[in-house]
Amino acid sequence: MSDLRRLPSIERLLQTEQASRLVTEFGRPLTLDAVRTVLAEARQDMQTGAEVPEPDEIFTRINNWLYATTQTTLLPVINATGVILHTNLGRAPLSADASLAMQRVATGYSSLEYNLENGQRGSREVHAEALLARLTGAEAALVVNNNAAAVLLALSTLAKRRAVVISRTQLVEIGGGFRVPEVMKQSGARLVEVGTTNRVHLSDYTAAIAETSPALVLHAHSSNFKIIGFTSEPPLVEVSEAAHQHGVLFLDDLGSGALLDTAHYGLSHEPTVQESLAAGADLVCFSGDKLLGGPQAGIIIGRKALIQKLKKHPLARAVRADKLCLAALSETLLHYLKNEAVEKIPVWQMISQTNDQIRQRAQHWQTVLGAGRLVDGLSTVGGGSLPEETLPTTLLVVDLPKPNQVMARLRSSNPPVIACIVADRVAFDPRTVLPAQEETLLRQIKTLIQSHT
Ligand SMILES: *Cc1c(COP(=O)(O)O)cnc(C)c1O
Repeated sequence: MSDLRRLPSIERLLQTEQASRLVTEFGRPLTLDAVRTVLAEARQDMQTGAEVPEPDEIFTRINNWLYATTQTTLLPVINATGVILHTNLGRAPLSADASLAMQRVATGYSSLEYNLENGQRGSREVHAEALLARLTGAEAALVVNNNAAAVLLALSTLAKRRAVVISRTQLVEIGGGFRVPEVMKQSGARLVEVGTTNRVHLSDYTAAIAETSPALVLHAHSSNFKIIGFTSEPPLVEVSEAAHQHGVLFLDDLGSGALLDTAHYGLSHEPTVQESLAAGADLVCFSGDKLLGGPQAGIIIGRKALIQKLKKHPLARAVRADKLCLAALSETLLHYLKNEAVEKIPVWQMISQTNDQIRQRAQHWQTVLGAGRLVDGLSTVGGGSLPEETLPTTLLVVDLPKPNQVMARLRSSNPPVIACIVADRVAFDPRTVLPAQEETLLRQIKTLIQSHT
């Protein structure tokens, strides 16, 4: 027991030069916490027979504790999976302009709710609205925190304690707990299901509309799955007309919010925002960070009188978009307006890269590394868009044993690298690796290979 007294006291440790360096870097309260924790652990270890730790060893432990405690967990990573809108990796990377716009409003004051013309209070709602209206031809627009919030707000405002007609083919779960039937329930709307799991006919809609006098007909895009085989759904325009003939609103939850045609890039056609409006949707909801390629946001566009109602609902305040989102979103929308979306927005750069271009990148990687094999592969869009759809790509495969351990090492590198496993080997898809990250990635792979030889 007398050994315990040979442990330095908290006071003595804090008086050392090493401690004062730590206090400068981490602050006094946290350093004190570290010292207490490490001493308490040492005392406990000694009671079960451990030696008195040397002063240097004590400081190493204090140092490690401080670094571990102040390590943030939201880290930039390199996405070499080939999944473009990887929901777990933060969906859409922003364009350089969007990220700059965000930084500009983040580090200073902004005209968020200030009218610069008359010097009076303004509205945060104006910033993206005009751009959205111009781009889509919609009368009005509203931006909220995400698309789940957009749908919830629309249903709460327009369909509370009223019936909402939706097809059974669309009672989908998007992932992350967004289930159309549950969102309906939360909003206070009453679900009226029509059709069957695989087929719904226009007559199913018209019968339900006539029978239940619903507040609206909801169409939800089955973003993340495909029904194949004996299936049928009436064209959007016919559903919308059936609703309007009975004076019922038609709301389209589009999910992905493509403004450009994915069919130009060898994918199947993802319904666009413009098409929803053309089909007669009174309101269209979509995400900001899926195929739009912007920040996390929920965008609602459509008829002015309805958007006006949504803006006044108490929920609108609870789900409003923040200034950083509005700055990045406006800048992203500008890329579309200036017809430079494919060149400037990372998601569209990745989608539009040809396999030839990717093969050249992979070949360059192989040359730099002096290792690896090129293998044909498939990238995907991900993020609940275009399920089952793939883009041909060229993977760089490294022939190292125990791919799971290799993946774990890559994840623990700085920055972490997320690769994929193809035929029991670790593979890297250049499509989703941002050009600015390429050098770092190659350095990581080189270190990895060297440590195995
Ligand atoms: C992705 C998606 C949502 C949820 O959007 P978030 O922006 O992730 O909240 C809702 N509806 C559909 C059809 C979707 O595809």
